[in-house]
Amino acid sequence: MKIIYDQSHKDHQPKNELDRSCWTTHPDIAERIEKLKEVLTAEFPRSFRGPQNFPEALLGLVHPQAYIDWLKKRCQEVEKGKEYFPKVFFWYDRCFDVGTPIMYNTYEIAWKAARVALTGAQMILDDEEVVYALTRPPGHHARSDMCGGYCYFNNAALAAEYLSTHADLYVAILDLDYHHGNGTQEIFYDRDDVLYISIHGDPQEAYPYTGYQDEIGAGEGRGYNMNMPLPKGSGGKDYLKALEVACDEINRYDPEVLIISMGFDTHAEDPIGGFCLKESDFFAIGRAIDHLKIPKLFVQEGGYNPDTNAAAIKSLLEGLGI
Ligand SMILES: [Zn+2]
Repeated sequence: MKIIYDQSHKDHQPKNELDRSCWTTHPDIAERIEKLKEVLTAEFPRSFRGPQNFPEALLGLVHPQAYIDWLKKRCQEVEKGKEYFPKVFFWYDRCFDVGTPIMYNTYEIAWKAARVALTGAQMILDDEEVVYALTRPPGHHARSDMCGGYCYFNNAALAAEYLSTHADLYVAILDLDYHHGNGTQEIFYDRDDVLYISIHGDPQEAYPYTGYQDEIGAGEGRGYNMNMPLPKGSGGKDYLKALEVACDEINRYDPEVLIISMGFDTHAEDPIGGFCLKESDFFAIGRAIDHLKIPKLFVQEGGYNPDTNAAAIKSLLEGLGI
């Protein structure tokens, strides 16, 4: 297994978000990734790699130039130490919520996170069997032309497009974050060469309020988008049952690469998620994923309690048997 990591994510320091009309401390703290890194370092001290250089034009695989330019320009307008909250009314800015502030270095760091994911994809092409990309900021809420949900560029989607474009591979994305990956779904909604499956909190009550079961894809993509929402408070039993169905579906699709959008905010002690998974459930998740005999690229999404993140990834790795 290889791990892709870059310490510059620590310079991404969002301070606030507007949550239901109240300013609250932003939960995307660097420590949540640093704790994952600590566990991975102890287990695989010689497996770390930095992100490779890629032409910035690769962002265009997923994001239109107008969005890329908008983000770059907004960053240039923000003073160091300040935050700009995109204006979501009348589509003034290219952002769909008020939890995704822009700082002077947001573009640079989000591009670095995208390179972490792209490096993971390249390593899969170089015959690595399992790669863990420690991406931060996360990506799965980022739509092609809008940021949101703490996400600026869609790391998992960029990795999937890279594998699909550069090697013509069939890719499945299994999204195990507590929140539905609305951005990833949208990007591949009319495609049959990238299967998207997500297990997440019921959209009636959980952010980003998308991911209903009847969102099954469109056109050529019809039948290649699968949402498995679960009620708030769901525990391991229901979650693992859903995961078994998801894995059967992945086997039926028979992809050449599996990308796992991995969130640990499904843990019972996560401050944001609404499921009740325990450490032992992450072991079972690892086992289920290990049974899928295809190369696997993990791309980090959420997980906002650094200590439970550490416990969860330890169990996941044990389940994966690596
Ligand atoms: Zn999440």
